Amino acid sequence: MELYQKPAYELSDMLKKKECSALELTESVFKRIDTVEDKVDAYLTVCKEQALQKAKAVDEAIASGKTLHQLAGIPIGIKDNISTKGIRTTCASKMLENYVPPFDAAVMNKINSADMIITGKLNMDEFAMGSSTENSHYKTTKNPHDLSRVPGGSSGGSAAAVAACEAIIALGSDTGGSIRQPAAYCGVVGLKPTYGSVSRYGLVAFASSLDQIGPIGRNVKDVAMLQSLICGHDKMDATSKNIQYPNYSDNLKSNLLGLKIGIPKEYFGDGIEPAVKQAVMNAVKEMESNGAIVKEITLPSTDFALNSYYILSSAEASSNLARFDGVKYGYRTAEYDSLTDMYEKTRSEGFGDEVKRRIMLGTFVLSSGYYDAYYKKAKLLQRKISQEFSTAFADVDVIATPTVPSPAFKIGENIGDPLKMYATDICTVTINIAGLPAISIPCGMDNNMPVGMQLIGNKFDEQTLLNAAFGYEQLIGGFNQMPKII
Ligand code: GLN
Repeated sequence: MELYQKPAYELSDMLKKKECSALELTESVFKRIDTVEDKVDAYLTVCKEQALQKAKAVDEAIASGKTLHQLAGIPIGIKDNISTKGIRTTCASKMLENYVPPFDAAVMNKINSADMIITGKLNMDEFAMGSSTENSHYKTTKNPHDLSRVPGGSSGGSAAAVAACEAIIALGSDTGGSIRQPAAYCGVVGLKPTYGSVSRYGLVAFASSLDQIGPIGRNVKDVAMLQSLICGHDKMDATSKNIQYPNYSDNLKSNLLGLKIGIPKEYFGDGIEPAVKQAVMNAVKEMESNGAIVKEITLPSTDFALNSYYILSSAEASSNLARFDGVKYGYRTAEYDSLTDMYEKTRSEGFGDEVKRRIMLGTFVLSSGYYDAYYKKAKLLQRKISQEFSTAFADVDVIATPTVPSPAFKIGENIGDPLKMYATDICTVTINIAGLPAISIPCGMDNNMPVGMQLIGNKFDEQTLLNAAFGYEQLIGGFNQMPKII
């Protein structure tokens, strides 16, 4: 087995025992990038020189006997909406084509102080709006399991890079499913943490009340390790929760005995492909026969979730994206004859169609004539959806659902039909609306494409969620489906 194929937790041990060097590991990952990147198109910026230099520094630190973080020397890819000091951060938009942040996001400070090795910046849907990476201004990432299919989105570059072993682990962001949906499509593990557990400082905002940064890896333990590193209170983010966060990976338990799993019937309805339902139910049954207790539950407002999500997220996006006006930073149109003309041309030329659609929708639902009819109703539904989850969690420890209604679709299949594209988010958006943590793990294959199971946890109870996911992973002997890219 090549180094680039190994899990982070095993590589961490190997580095400590000097069975491999950080330089060998980093070179192995870049060799993989050189071999498959022209097929997968996961990266927008590759940071080879910096990565090799950092790897040498980590090796020197190891040689000098310094005690390092357990993720030291592990190559990580970063979604391109997370600010990286001195490294271009485009959000896959023409608007930020040449933008190099003068500061690091809070999560990057943690990654750098843990001495992780940044491989580069990963492709995404423009400003994280989309479900396929087809909204990237630069290129569409391909699903490593079938290059004619999408990797999902918006963190499609992150999920594809991890699945294709072009990174050992990655960071994504999730506003309505953007970590979990691509993780499901690419057959990897993606965690959307509880709102407020990971600092958003330096994450380019899409919908601030829904956005969360989270890890994508090839196994639950790697994801738990990275989550333990990036979570925690940050005074730079007013919504960051100041509580004690456990070390999730040190406390991982695979015992499923007595774990109460809720099955909400609303997530297994007509829109969900039978093979997907079957794969998720088989996984749940497997957990049940190993000691878990399965209960049917109901989350009646699920039907309204997509409408609420697209109203709330677009409203916030329309406000957040007002800053891209050609004045302060980013793209500015070449020729204009007044300030208003400059704004109009800059924004017309700098944003792609989907971003403009969201800005228009958001401005509309916030306008004085329609605020009550749309935005206010969506806010009321948000409270109802959250209450239904709270009621459910009085009875169960985790909730199991499909992550996405069907496996990855073909490139081009949904791009002309926004509503069809939005419908793929039906199982994931409720979790952001309620601020809960949720993880997508592989639970089978349908026509040679991965199927994901979503486990939803109670607020700030990532430990129970990760334990449940780890329990299932151990039961089935690990997630081992390597994609067939080459
Ligand atoms: N697909 C959803 C959207 O387009 C979710 C995006 C996200 O989570 N960033 O809004």
